[in-house]
Amino acid sequence: MSPIQVYLFTSKAASREQMRQLAQRLYTLGCAEEAVQMVDVSEQPYLAERFRVVVTPALVKTKPEPRQVLVGSDLLDQLEYWWPRWQAEKSSQPASGNSSPTPDVATLEEELTRAKLTIQQLTAQVQFRDQVLELLAHDLRNPLTAVGIALETLELTPDRTDLAPQLLHQARNQVKTLDRLINNILQVNRNQQNALQLNPQAVHLREMIELVAQSFAPQFANRNHHLELDVPEPCPPVFADPDALRRVLTNLLDNACKYTPPGGRIQISTLHSTTLKVQVTVADNGPGIPPQDQERIFDPSTRLEHQHHETGYGLGLAVCRQIVQAHYGRIWVESAPGRGSAFHFTLPVYRP
Ligand code: ADP
Repeated sequence: MSPIQVYLFTSKAASREQMRQLAQRLYTLGCAEEAVQMVDVSEQPYLAERFRVVVTPALVKTKPEPRQVLVGSDLLDQLEYWWPRWQAEKSSQPASGNSSPTPDVATLEEELTRAKLTIQQLTAQVQFRDQVLELLAHDLRNPLTAVGIALETLELTPDRTDLAPQLLHQARNQVKTLDRLINNILQVNRNQQNALQLNPQAVHLREMIELVAQSFAPQFANRNHHLELDVPEPCPPVFADPDALRRVLTNLLDNACKYTPPGGRIQISTLHSTTLKVQVTVADNGPGIPPQDQERIFDPSTRLEHQHHETGYGLGLAVCRQIVQAHYGRIWVESAPGRGSAFHFTLPVYRP
């Protein structure tokens, strides 16, 4: 006799309570505790995928075979109806044998699904690394070429002593840029090993921007802010972690909304700056940021004096910087007191 085995899929607090009641009922009907498995879809998405569960709450009976999925608000009633039928199926099937899958096969199937997902994620990460590497090589080549040209000019025109100081100055500046770029890369690699675990994939930027902007509609309406979107199509997909990117846009819009006085104007725009990068800008016509603070606002816990009446912990921009840097991008602000602020960040373009 094959024992009855069920999975109870939940996603929200309300359905969790319903599932607890269902589990209780299963126990009183005689189901063993280990045969009832509660699954929170957000924690074990691979199980939802494996059993093709698209709505919750759902009850999936996996044994005895065949598999059956019950959904709806009357799961308790459905259970009462099906339980005697499952009992009948149970007694008609052998407990083990070659024809029915043993518990080990089920576990293996589950592990296979999980492994497939991991492979998908790892492949995306490798592809992300490859594309980013190309982008970094491109960024490094520009200053290197400039140094090369300066040195070559010095070599070819030994008698132009008037040019020498300027050329050397240029070369030194480019070497500094190279040094900064390399330090950034090393820093990001160090941070990434410690903290951020990205799941990079192709993201349609316009769709994402529209979704995030929509979620701000009530706040904008409250403060009578006027929002403008300037995201020209075709805009290439970017290679980014969607959740992390949503966080960056949310933090920047949250700040624009918070610091721009009622009636102000907020603008989100994109610029396909090179074939390898896209630049996103969130601008406002709020109070602006003094030049001496424009770098340090990206440090954790930095809040400017005059804005302390607004709520916040000074972490939003630090998180933005960490996320953007993890995508090997750059984030910065252009601003002048009383003239608004424009926060720009870059992301790698996705190339299939
Ligand atoms: P928080 O908003 O929680 O203070 P952030 O890290 O998001 O933290 O921002 C740091 C500081 O940068 C803010 O306290 C504010 O002084 C300044 N700032 C950020 N965005 C803007 C903006 N759009 N306009 C003016 N000042 C800003």
